[in-house]
Amino acid sequence: MVKWHLTGYRRWISSPTGSVLLLVLLALVGDYSSRGVFAASPLPDQSDVLYHAASVSSIAATRDVDSTYFLPNTTVPTHYSISLRTDIHNDVRTFSAITRIYLTVLAPTDLIVMHVQELNIASVALYRIASTGGNEIWIDSPTYMIDIVREHVTFRTAGMLPLGNYALEVAYTGSMRNYQSGYLVSRYRNEANEWRSVGTTHFQATLARRVFPCYDEPALKATFDLKITHHRAYTAIANMPLAGTEIDPNNREYLVSRFERTPLMSTYLLAFAVTDFKTLRNGQHEIVVRSNAQDDAMYALTVGSTILERLGSYLELSYYDYMPKMTSIAVPDRGTGAMENWGLVTYGEPSLLYNPAVNTYRNRKRVTTVIAHEYAHQWFGDLVSPRSWDFIWLSEGFATLYEYLATRLAEPGDEYWELFSVEVVQRAFLQDANEQIRPINWQAATQAEVSSLFDIIAYQKAGSVLNMFRNVLGESEWRQGLTQYLTDRGYDAATEENLALHLQRAVEGKDILPPTANVRDLLASWTDAPGFPVLNVYRLYRDGMMILSQERFLEQSVLPTGHVWHIPFNYAYESSATFYDLTTAGWLSSRAAKLETPVPDDEWVVFNKQQTGYYRVNYDRRNWDLLAQALMANRNAIHRANRAQLIDDAFNLARADLLDMAVVLRLMRYLRAERDYAPWYAADKVLTYLYDKVRATEHEHAFLVYVDELIEEVYSTLSVDTVGQGESTLYKYLRQLITGWACRIGYKDCLERSRAALRKEFLPGQGESSVAVHPDVRAVVYCYGLQQDSAEEFQLIFQRLMASRNQAERTDLIDALGCARNADSITSLLATIVFSAAPDTTFVYLSEERNRVFQAIYSGGRAPTLALMNVLSDPVSVQQLLAIVGEGTITNAVMNIAQRTNGAEEMARLEMMLTAMNGILPPGTLNNARDTAAARPQWFTTAEGLIVGEFLEQYNLP
Ligand SMILES: [Zn+2]
Repeated sequence: MVKWHLTGYRRWISSPTGSVLLLVLLALVGDYSSRGVFAASPLPDQSDVLYHAASVSSIAATRDVDSTYFLPNTTVPTHYSISLRTDIHNDVRTFSAITRIYLTVLAPTDLIVMHVQELNIASVALYRIASTGGNEIWIDSPTYMIDIVREHVTFRTAGMLPLGNYALEVAYTGSMRNYQSGYLVSRYRNEANEWRSVGTTHFQATLARRVFPCYDEPALKATFDLKITHHRAYTAIANMPLAGTEIDPNNREYLVSRFERTPLMSTYLLAFAVTDFKTLRNGQHEIVVRSNAQDDAMYALTVGSTILERLGSYLELSYYDYMPKMTSIAVPDRGTGAMENWGLVTYGEPSLLYNPAVNTYRNRKRVTTVIAHEYAHQWFGDLVSPRSWDFIWLSEGFATLYEYLATRLAEPGDEYWELFSVEVVQRAFLQDANEQIRPINWQAATQAEVSSLFDIIAYQKAGSVLNMFRNVLGESEWRQGLTQYLTDRGYDAATEENLALHLQRAVEGKDILPPTANVRDLLASWTDAPGFPVLNVYRLYRDGMMILSQERFLEQSVLPTGHVWHIPFNYAYESSATFYDLTTAGWLSSRAAKLETPVPDDEWVVFNKQQTGYYRVNYDRRNWDLLAQALMANRNAIHRANRAQLIDDAFNLARADLLDMAVVLRLMRYLRAERDYAPWYAADKVLTYLYDKVRATEHEHAFLVYVDELIEEVYSTLSVDTVGQGESTLYKYLRQLITGWACRIGYKDCLERSRAALRKEFLPGQGESSVAVHPDVRAVVYCYGLQQDSAEEFQLIFQRLMASRNQAERTDLIDALGCARNADSITSLLATIVFSAAPDTTFVYLSEERNRVFQAIYSGGRAPTLALMNVLSDPVSVQQLLAIVGEGTITNAVMNIAQRTNGAEEMARLEMMLTAMNGILPPGTLNNARDTAAARPQWFTTAEGLIVGEFLEQYNLP
């Protein structure tokens, strides 16, 4: 699954008619409606020998969970036969169904316990199925009891059931929701501008029980027959191909769609959809999409086919040996997530649709990587499921790794794999440095505990750790192990033990691991303990001797820990810059050890080549200086992935008081010659952090001078407003990052060209034709083009937003609008949120777009933020907005404004706003915002703040 950004159900009120705000804003908005504009990072404490025997004291990965949430194992399912009737074509949000659950009684019992959520049961019947075959014999109408907390339904029979096979038939009705839950409704506007409702499903993790009574635990696999009765104007699709359709004998306007039987699979992977969509086919690979977005689906159709086929070859297990077809469906207005149901993957539209005319290289990457993620799940998750939710990381970790790796198999030219370190490893480090973080293996019982497992640990950390083992074991052994794992556990479930066993067999007798080590123990040192280590490299500068030590890396505090990670390491140095040889040179399997190396004492050394190991590295001060000098002299002496690592590690080590922030700032000075994206990506995080601290303070100017020197040369090689032939993906990322900084710090060239390009598109001079801004440069051009007097362009962009039915484009346009410097423009943008709640409104926003408007404004710069603060300072306006977007969005906006407040003037303005909001937001929220803002200036009194201030002062001396 890729996260759907659930914000939950939001209450709606309509009709802001007659409100003061409306009138005031109508005046500001002017006569838009009539013109139709608005239509729309230490020394070792002990020394030891490397290759130390693999005995590690682990922190047990256990916590107490309430086992009463688990199903008793007296009965197990073998097959489900589901018949469901839906009227979704009429936007009817209830459904009726009869589900027959075939089960085996394993221990005599009079209780059959399974899961159910919000189903109204009408009747229950129990049948005995003779082992000799023959007819099913009715034996009972069991009574039942529902535990709404555990979501258990217990069927009680009149007498004890002997061992054997039974079928329980349940007739019931259920309801649909308009968010990711069970059988759900979503709406879109067709060509004739009519609203259409369509039904799709989302069952992970514990939501299949909303649609049919079932044994809703991943290991309890069964086969499924599915029949859906629906209006004949709609079609039904499911995991399996259609077996046939008949006319409903009860109503000739309806059809009964029957599907082929599924293989053994988990309940959470069942899926179906009832829509008036079109199907695009490429062999057994198909895309289902609303008819007015078919062109946008062509990219997914092609790239999806390739990814599925290449993954099959890579794993030596063809997808089509297991399933007869693959369907990906684009679900309108359902966020940006995706779900890997076997044979029927669901996506929010921006994760499946890509139109090069209006969408950006980032959308293309999103679509490609999300498809790769979900298709990887067809093996990791669907064919082999986690034994329990505790092992969801076996699904999501692999999916996260292959989300990137599979794109290299399918579209190597896209270079997405190059982003793995910065987007996955470095991102995981950020959260995994928290004292409260959970280990990878973590138990869960309740629905809330299960859903909380879908976090950065299960995705990015597990993906990073798996990638470390891929490198340590070697690509061919890794693949061999995976193929055996998938073959052995296919149609069944797995645990970490199963994976470790097959990986161990693949490396057995090959001298890949130290003689005393085994995969299971090595892996467990990373999966059973929370957090991750920092490898300290303390050079003695005496015949290449070094002392290596490890400790847990935490963002703020130092915790005593007995845990020792098995850290595979390798290194490169000046006269042996072997960055492409990723062979493991040794293991640090103790707290500390002495290491003899051939590294000359006057050369730099870099550990963890290409950052394939999941750990940070710190050095003694002299080595940091050697590295900074080396980069200044020739950045290419060090691999680009390690340049990114050095910046990211140095910065985070400094933030944790393990290094001096001035080392980071000096190290980064080489960036003036940097042309690769990954190091700039890491640097961008540092610059953003610092800019946030120094903006509107006495140090701002010196900081801007620093940034100017870093970006000046690279900026001169990039074009703000045009896209050239044959540009690589990474070049596009680099351009957006650099031009974004150039415009932000006020490069005249950047601002003027953005402004001009915006005018050329929306307000071309007389006799000139409109020249569209290329989508790949749109983010910077629109945003900074709108930072000057550009009310007219603003309106035209808004108009385009209202007219667009491409969700990804709409999001980009909202982000652009939020940059507007013109206060009236921002005010009217907020007014449209109010208008959008009126009946028959022409202002149409998708579910999450109103929140996005707020986010776009407070992220858009100081000017739009001030305009937002003005609106929020008017109690009537806040009440109206709050009624529509909910308290969460307003609170979020207030906290984000507070987090961006610098200096006395801004503090005073914030206080004005908070005072005006008295009685509207809870006092706790308002005080929270005050405290957050008040704490900000204190940064300059910390060691880090003083060091940065001092550096900038010195830096700025002529
Ligand atoms: Zn996933």
